[in-house]
Amino acid sequence: MDNETVSKNFIEQIIDKDIEEGHCQKVVTRFPPEPNGYLHIGHAKSILLNYGLAKEYNGQFNMRFDDTNPTKEKVEFVDSIKKDVEWLGAKWNGDVLFASNYFPQMYEAAIRLIKNGKAYVDDLSAEEIRQYRGTLTEPGKESPYRERSVEENLKLFEEMKEGKYADGEKVLRAKIDMASPNINMRDPIIYRVAHMTHHRTGDEWCIYPMYDFAHPIEDAVEGITHSICTLEFEDHRPLYDWVIIETGYKTSPEENPKQIEFAKLYLTNVVTGKRYIKKLVEDGVVDGWDDPRMPTLVGMRRRGYSAEAIKDFLERVGVSKADSTVDEKLLEHCVREDLNGTAYRAMAVIDPLKVTITNWPEGETMDVEMENHPDHPEWGTRVVKFGRELYIEREDFMEEPPKKYFRLKPEGEVRLKGAYIIKCERVVHTVDGGIDHIECSVDLSSRSGSEGANRKVKGTIHWVNARDCAPFEARLYDQLMTEEWDTAEAADKKDVTKFLSDTSLQVMNGYCEHALVSAKPGDTFQFLRNGYFCKDPDSTQALSVFNRTVPLKDSWAKTQK
Ligand code: ATP
Ligand code: MG
Repeated sequence: MDNETVSKNFIEQIIDKDIEEGHCQKVVTRFPPEPNGYLHIGHAKSILLNYGLAKEYNGQFNMRFDDTNPTKEKVEFVDSIKKDVEWLGAKWNGDVLFASNYFPQMYEAAIRLIKNGKAYVDDLSAEEIRQYRGTLTEPGKESPYRERSVEENLKLFEEMKEGKYADGEKVLRAKIDMASPNINMRDPIIYRVAHMTHHRTGDEWCIYPMYDFAHPIEDAVEGITHSICTLEFEDHRPLYDWVIIETGYKTSPEENPKQIEFAKLYLTNVVTGKRYIKKLVEDGVVDGWDDPRMPTLVGMRRRGYSAEAIKDFLERVGVSKADSTVDEKLLEHCVREDLNGTAYRAMAVIDPLKVTITNWPEGETMDVEMENHPDHPEWGTRVVKFGRELYIEREDFMEEPPKKYFRLKPEGEVRLKGAYIIKCERVVHTVDGGIDHIECSVDLSSRSGSEGANRKVKGTIHWVNARDCAPFEARLYDQLMTEEWDTAEAADKKDVTKFLSDTSLQVMNGYCEHALVSAKPGDTFQFLRNGYFCKDPDSTQALSVFNRTVPLKDSWAKTQK
């Protein structure tokens, strides 16, 4: 085996084998979301995996909504999902597809099953069906309606379709094996009566196919070759093959479409799972689906994560057959690496402390040229104005500093980035003993880039000119979930709101370079020493809002060392 073969993942190996054995001429994959919520980072994994394989094998990638359950589905979700998939750069073939487009084929397939004696109409109630199903250790019991004649089944199914029965009154079941060790094979329900209005087909149908019946037919109709899904469907695979074979779309499990399962993406401290995410939105504990703390793609985008960073992260994680939880810090690391290369540099003070330069003339300013990116001289420079009144970060000054504190302290010196060395001459207190502002002197011979600049001081801090800056709101984020979330048992997880961290959002009022007022929502910056920030759509002309995408410190990189 050459290197390339060795490094292929298990899905590529299956595809290679299928091609070799002649089961597949052209690889066709799909992303099949149910339009009942917004996509999260886990879905991104599925999208990029399916799209990536289609691309790698010169095949086709379909975008198909699995809209077979009208209760929870909405057009709002269809639109947002399309936008997210596009944002990730996954290009689907032709038009967006909908499972509901194939309701006629599914109905026909059900009729074929009935005609072949492979499906029957059952009058048992949902509760009775559950009781008859048996358990992992006990076989199920056959329904008294199991042996209805083909004619009777055809007539009853037709009547179900025509609306003669109420919800739950009758179902269509596959006739497989009530004693199968695989519970999914114990005569699963394939059609139910549901008098509901569908967001695409309206009131045309009052019977709807169940997922396990609909999905394989959707795949078969579209000519999907590799139907990639997550591990929880492994036990459903025999049913997947049964449906496709018995409805006449293939003759053996070796043929395509073929279901392949991979492990879901889980991240430490991050809630994935649509129903949990939905609850956070519905309970109003976050500010909507696109709250920057959310693991949704809309949330991450608003936070300032780029599609490239997410792709890089997912490539590093890879695909596997065993569940595991990836350290969320790796995602942050990828985001940081990406922004390091793409974000413009700027100065912003999050927690301002006023500084007056006593030996700088009132009303006078000096232009300081700053580079927009240290590795991209071609991105040019910008001018910020040095003056008598400045803001520095409150934490960059300490009145009673510990040893080795290299920022500003009484009688101490520090360099203001791109400008001069200043010395703290006096601390002016408020009535209650806090620090109101500080007075400093500037060493005029120490200007950065000039001769005197050779004089070294240990610390360099960022600043903005109080007369030439703009107020802004900094939204600083931390994990939305507490650590307990990762270890909570499934039952406990039902109340996702019990695991919310109370430090996930901190709002600060600071000052930034004036030019940032004209930045557009979505623009990203590195605020020197404070982290990467992204302009939020909540910004107004009067007040810019910036989300901290990630801080600068990289604890993931550190732990790797
Ligand atoms: P959730 O588990 O969040 O409720 P879902 O599987 O119900 O998601 P679907 O809309 O049915 O959501 O999923 C569309 C596709 O995305 C499916 O093929 C599913 O397997 C995949 N997917 C969902 N969550 C993850 C995840 N965490 N990692 C990888 N793929 C995922
Ligand atoms: Mg689902």
